[in-house]
Amino acid sequence: MDFDIKKIRSDFPILSHTVYGKPLIYFDNAATTQKPECVINIISEFYKNYNSNVHRGVHLLSAKCTEANENARKTIQKFINANSSKEIIFTHGTTDSINLIATSFGDKFINKDDEIIVSELEHHSNIVPWQLLCERKQAKIKVLPFNEKGELIVDKLKNLISKKTKLITLNQVSNSLGTINPIKKIIEIAHSNNIPVMIDGAQAIQHQKVDVKKLDCDFYVFSGHKIYAPTGTGVLYGKEKWLEQMPPYQGGGDMIDVVTFKKTTYNELPFKFEAGTPNYIGNIALGKALDYVSSIGISNIAKHEKELLEYGTQKLSEIENLIIYGNAKNKTSVISFLINGIHPYDTGMVLDKLGVAVRTGNHCTQPVMDHYKIPGTVRASFAFYNTIEEIDVLYEGLLKVVKMFN
Ligand code: PMP
Repeated sequence: MDFDIKKIRSDFPILSHTVYGKPLIYFDNAATTQKPECVINIISEFYKNYNSNVHRGVHLLSAKCTEANENARKTIQKFINANSSKEIIFTHGTTDSINLIATSFGDKFINKDDEIIVSELEHHSNIVPWQLLCERKQAKIKVLPFNEKGELIVDKLKNLISKKTKLITLNQVSNSLGTINPIKKIIEIAHSNNIPVMIDGAQAIQHQKVDVKKLDCDFYVFSGHKIYAPTGTGVLYGKEKWLEQMPPYQGGGDMIDVVTFKKTTYNELPFKFEAGTPNYIGNIALGKALDYVSSIGISNIAKHEKELLEYGTQKLSEIENLIIYGNAKNKTSVISFLINGIHPYDTGMVLDKLGVAVRTGNHCTQPVMDHYKIPGTVRASFAFYNTIEEIDVLYEGLLKVVKMFN
């Protein structure tokens, strides 16, 4: 398909809105993405016509929702090239997926004095669940650092790995800096030491082709809402060999086989990890969102976003005293920056009044901010529906900010 930006923008109802009488320019895509009409429509279509709880009913509506939920699972399996739909667990998002792994894998495989390696570039969601686990198990976290450009120093990994290392966990793309990490290389190093790897794909899946078989990662997790699907949806991919060995995370309906007061047995994969009524209409909408992304073409998306990143980086670099944090050679369409002497909140507030939505703060990556000894940044994150003209408005807005505060 041709990349028709006008048509693409018309697929997203919110993009034609105004704020404070100005056209909305949405540059907060790393926090969450906007939703195309087809995703919004499928939610109302299912609630209006087919809604009924999945897996338990013999009637038509339940069968319809069950089938659509399981088809969405197959869509996800295909999208990330997993071996089997048994390896696709529906969750509520990246955080939920990581907590599931930290609890279930952690309970089974992490013991006293064991070590888990995380990167310094992680979102709090890929730090805190491991800290909680390490407190419970008296295990230890080791940190793979990054350099001034925001690139992981992979050479240091070999020194961090020991006989006690039981897991390496890191993101494919940093949410605060946009760095694309060399995860294939890291996975190879880990596997040559028999260490499994969990990849947080929250900021990667929407920007580039992800093939879990090629990557050979042991776990891959992401959130639906960052890839044009509803909030409250998410995915945990895990190799079957791990998921089979891991105990259930939560108990309840659907995850059981037989329940007696004497002994309960558990359902097969993937249902063993899906306790309670799932967000089935959300899952169905996630499948729709992935179909939509596939129809645009992930390589077309990557190409357009690369143009936005290059143009944005060049324009913003023209502004005196503006410092960009995160200058990795491989980056997604994220620009994190500060203008010397101007608080990020002030910059964000002025841009907001001009219709430009950016995020300010530490982006749930306090260790990254600590590394640079700053409290936070202003972050503009672009999606494939953004345009060069919108970046021009950001640039003009920043010139106004400079004028106002200097
Ligand atoms: N990891 C990364 C890299 C993220 O960017 C985010 C969201 N900002 C998360 C984890 C957490 O995702 P969620 O809040 O959707 O669970």
